[in-house]
Amino acid sequence: MENPVRVVDAFVDQLNLFELGFESAQPKLTGRPAYHPSTMLKLYIYGYLNKVQSSRKLEREANRNLELIWLLERLAPDFKTISNFRKDNSAAIKSVCRQFVMLCKQMNMFAESLIAVDGSRFSAVNNRDRNYTKAKVQRRIDAINKSLDRYLSQLDSFDRKDEAIPDVKTKHIHKQLDSLKRQMAEVKAIEAVIDLAPGKQISLTDPDARAMSTNAPSSGTVGYNVQTAVDTKHHLIVAHDVSMEMGDRSMLTRMSLQAREATGLKKLKVLADRGYFKMEEIKATVDQGITPYVPKSLTSSNRKHGKFDRGDFIYIEADDEYKCPANRRLPKRTKTMDAGKVMYRYWSKECGECALKSKCTTGKERRVTRWEHGKVIEDHERRMTNNPTMMQLRKQTVEHPFGTIKSWMGMAHFKTKRLRNVSSEMSLYVLAYNMKRMINIIGVKPLIKAIETA
Ligand code: SF4
Repeated sequence: MENPVRVVDAFVDQLNLFELGFESAQPKLTGRPAYHPSTMLKLYIYGYLNKVQSSRKLEREANRNLELIWLLERLAPDFKTISNFRKDNSAAIKSVCRQFVMLCKQMNMFAESLIAVDGSRFSAVNNRDRNYTKAKVQRRIDAINKSLDRYLSQLDSFDRKDEAIPDVKTKHIHKQLDSLKRQMAEVKAIEAVIDLAPGKQISLTDPDARAMSTNAPSSGTVGYNVQTAVDTKHHLIVAHDVSMEMGDRSMLTRMSLQAREATGLKKLKVLADRGYFKMEEIKATVDQGITPYVPKSLTSSNRKHGKFDRGDFIYIEADDEYKCPANRRLPKRTKTMDAGKVMYRYWSKECGECALKSKCTTGKERRVTRWEHGKVIEDHERRMTNNPTMMQLRKQTVEHPFGTIKSWMGMAHFKTKRLRNVSSEMSLYVLAYNMKRMINIIGVKPLIKAIETA
């Protein structure tokens, strides 16, 4: 009775799978009846709980693993049927994952209204060599040109020599030249369309996979950006998302809203690392009634060098002016646009006579820039200062889920191609993670009881 396989059985049995959008799985051999989606779903959840994710391995296990034989009532679908089920039911699988989160919500598992958001890059089937960015295309063209020049100059030097050159040598060079010309044609074809591709990248094996770090020429994962929102009390994943976006800076509001919807908590506090700090996102989250805790990246080294930084200038709201470290006022003087944001600039005309100028600026005067919604950011900074333990809590919360899922995946990449299918894989990982977590927290029997009475 304490076997986790019983949780899988009980959970799937109480779902209305057709209402969730599942279709029956059609077996490869014609004439055989279609598999009920519950059989296929049980097989997949069991597989992901037990680190068996590939359809071929699942086919094998369905024939020899006693727990699976019991769970599937001796049915054993072939690997193609198994693989197609995951592909054909992407949205429905995500809904099942949500159903489990709803069960956790009914069981009051998310009572603390504190959620940590985090992102991680997961490798796609696409090899790094088969992913092209604009810079990489140019590097490839340069490398091919260099090789072409080398072989052509070898041919030239043969022509200049009096002695006869062995046929085999010239044949080899011509073969290499043909191959390089073919490669150049391929790269040129990619160059012609790369500007139109999303993120200005082309992946040849999985067209949706993206190089997630474009700074270093040959580093970084080619894959997907996986986001999770994790509750800080029990470390359950309340929401997840898979995207082709390379950074986390535009993810805060999106993940916060998903977390609020999943938990049903009205007052939500969301913790995230500095990679999520973007002024517009902080404001958008606050506007939604959610309280973010996100540290700001330190961009100035002034303080380290004994100089005044932005924090030394105090905004006087009543006068719409700043007070500087020399106690002088900096009135508002200009309004500019910066990347779509309205920014105001403040400065004093008395900097030239200031005794502290050497610690403040090397320019004619020190100018302070403020976003038109600067108050939202100042309130946020104050909140961060008053709650110094939030980032420690964030770290403790998010490390567990990604660490567990990545250890289940091992060194492997996603098994499927395209965003839709990869999302369905991730939903299975998240469902398996949450199920295992709930089994660890409350045990098999109480969990089955909760499932049956939900
Ligand atoms: S240099 Fe200007 S802004 Fe800086 S402390 Fe002196 S008066 Fe204030």
